[in-house]
Amino acid sequence: MELIVLGCGDAFGNGGRNNTSFLVSDGDEHVLLDCGATTLIRLKHEKIDVEAISTIVISHFHGDHFGGIPFILICSLFEIPRKKPLTIIGPIGVADRVHSLLEAMYAGTVEQLGMLDLRFLEYKQGEVLTIGDKSIKVWEVDHSPPSFPHAIRLEWKGKKIAFSGDTSWSDKLIALAEGTDVFICECNFLKEVSFGHLSYAELLHKASLFHTKSLWLTHMADEVIDAVDFKLNRLTDGQKITL
Ligand SMILES: [Zn+2]
Repeated sequence: MELIVLGCGDAFGNGGRNNTSFLVSDGDEHVLLDCGATTLIRLKHEKIDVEAISTIVISHFHGDHFGGIPFILICSLFEIPRKKPLTIIGPIGVADRVHSLLEAMYAGTVEQLGMLDLRFLEYKQGEVLTIGDKSIKVWEVDHSPPSFPHAIRLEWKGKKIAFSGDTSWSDKLIALAEGTDVFICECNFLKEVSFGHLSYAELLHKASLFHTKSLWLTHMADEVIDAVDFKLNRLTDGQKITL
């Protein structure tokens, strides 16, 4: 099992990094945790078979986290005609949000989605969503409320991967990270404490609360990317982590 960082940037392209997307793979089948606007470009860069993506799980409705889905869909319709099923999982209303986004970007294509074996599933806090051999659990987190922000925990083939989504500090993150092989936690700022995002200063004090084999930071502004004497692990685009 492997995790490939397709994008660990923020919404503003800091550090020249791609928008958020993490690919978890068993070698044959891929799951995407988030699908920011640049995801298809990075998939092509990594020479990853788009059709091998069976499942896309979305943490919240911000473009740097789900804005890449229309590109995956038009690629699957017109460039590499997709035969395999695709499941898109997200907060309440995920089907309508994706349809609206696709129609805004490529008018007239929504009606062609019937050519794909595509299904949408909504997750809910407190419920475990089981899809084949994968299970997904989510926590509502503290970020822009209209985006329905969630943290995600994926369990697949004995591996446990957690992702904070975008959030300010919440004790829910401790439960999210518990017993995981990898915990990817957002760290937008260096010192600033604000609603909606975390800072290095906060995480440095809280990191010992996370019972995970491997903690990695993502969604970093330049001030975090460039900081020296840094004591936590920072992801980079294209990084591969063996699970
Ligand atoms: Zn966000």
